[in-house]
Amino acid sequence: MRGVLLFIIGFTVSFLYAQTEQCGQVEYMDYLETLSPGIKEQADNMYFESLRQSQARNKWDAKDTLYTINVVFHVMYNIGEENLTDEVIKSQMDILNASYRRTNEDTVLTRDIFKPVAADVGIQFQLAKVDPNGDSTSGIVRKYTPRSSYVTSQRFATLQAEQVKTAANGSAAWDTEKYLNIWVCDLSYLGYDLLLGFAYPPTSAPNWPSTSYVNADRQGVVVHYKTVGENSFTTLTSNKTLVHEVGHYLGLRHIWGDAPANDRCNHNYDDFINDTPLAGSSSDAPGCNYNKNTCDPLEPDDLPDQIENYMDYSPGTCQNMFTSDQAGLMRQNLITYRPGIIALKTYEMGPEPMPYIPPTETRVYPNPASTFVVVEIKDPIKENRYKLKITNVLGQPVFEKELESESRQRIEYNFGLSGFYIYQIFENEDVMVEDRMLFGQF
Ligand SMILES: [Zn+2]
Repeated sequence: MRGVLLFIIGFTVSFLYAQTEQCGQVEYMDYLETLSPGIKEQADNMYFESLRQSQARNKWDAKDTLYTINVVFHVMYNIGEENLTDEVIKSQMDILNASYRRTNEDTVLTRDIFKPVAADVGIQFQLAKVDPNGDSTSGIVRKYTPRSSYVTSQRFATLQAEQVKTAANGSAAWDTEKYLNIWVCDLSYLGYDLLLGFAYPPTSAPNWPSTSYVNADRQGVVVHYKTVGENSFTTLTSNKTLVHEVGHYLGLRHIWGDAPANDRCNHNYDDFINDTPLAGSSSDAPGCNYNKNTCDPLEPDDLPDQIENYMDYSPGTCQNMFTSDQAGLMRQNLITYRPGIIALKTYEMGPEPMPYIPPTETRVYPNPASTFVVVEIKDPIKENRYKLKITNVLGQPVFEKELESESRQRIEYNFGLSGFYIYQIFENEDVMVEDRMLFGQF
């Protein structure tokens, strides 16, 4: 009997989890593609360009600028519990800030293997003090809605939820080039917390022509009210949802690259970020599965799936880190595509530039690469000769270059390659390292 009961409980829980869509980012991008055909390709191109720039920048520049972003909350409520108090909103701001500055207490739970790459993003958030008319504000807009939920069917949930951004059915955005707009509303469906949130990714530079994909009124983040702040809702949601969605808003992707179930661990499905290990699937609730290691578990230097990452689907209790490269990418996107929302730049992150850190391994990055690569050699010896050689899958050489006996060098070259290749770094006649590498025109 007890066994049967446990089985029923277990089944109910997994059913609930299956119903919870968590983040609607994939569906949302599909929806935006129907509105603006080509937007996904453009988002891809911008992603790889930012990634390339941030990877080049992040290695050498002191991360000394602290950016403060102006935030406005639009709270749409139908019943009292949806009209979140100022205290709940402020507690969410605290969670957001702690997560992006890596000052949250649960950072002690980051496994030792990931501590070296766990990063203070150097971005923080403040409720706007001045509204678009120049009047003082609390940074929180509240509005009644006759809708009990913004989701009326299981399919196209994000399409329906977009209504929250309209003046007629929700609350119109404040100037999205000056504020991070966060809409909080009911995204449940038939009592299930179906959709927890979604975000508009950076897809356009400011001042682009009106024919571009700029859709000013939609820029921002939407979250389910039950995910917000320290509150009493006994649900399966997490108040790290907003941390995750703001990550999307600043251009991050899911760490498993949204790989389809039948094509896991394919290097084409990845976030292409070097310090988040390749993962074949999202880490779903319940619990923190520290044994999860979906790809290449037999490789000697393989790392487990980074379930601590905010851009996974693991429960909020497991999430406590962004990586250094994710931080670099968000900062790059912020200053390139969303510079107007920066309210303040300060230099609190320490006047000392980051110390020079010699490479801990011999490698070539970025991966994927297009028009340049950086070669890192661990402990190079001045008298030795070094060489980079790239061959195609048939073993035919397509690029070869003598290297300096230096630990880090950048090679500018329009490789004109596309697809998978093998690179080798030679020390004299010996192969120091050999690995696969993706090239493309990004
Ligand atoms: Zn997501």
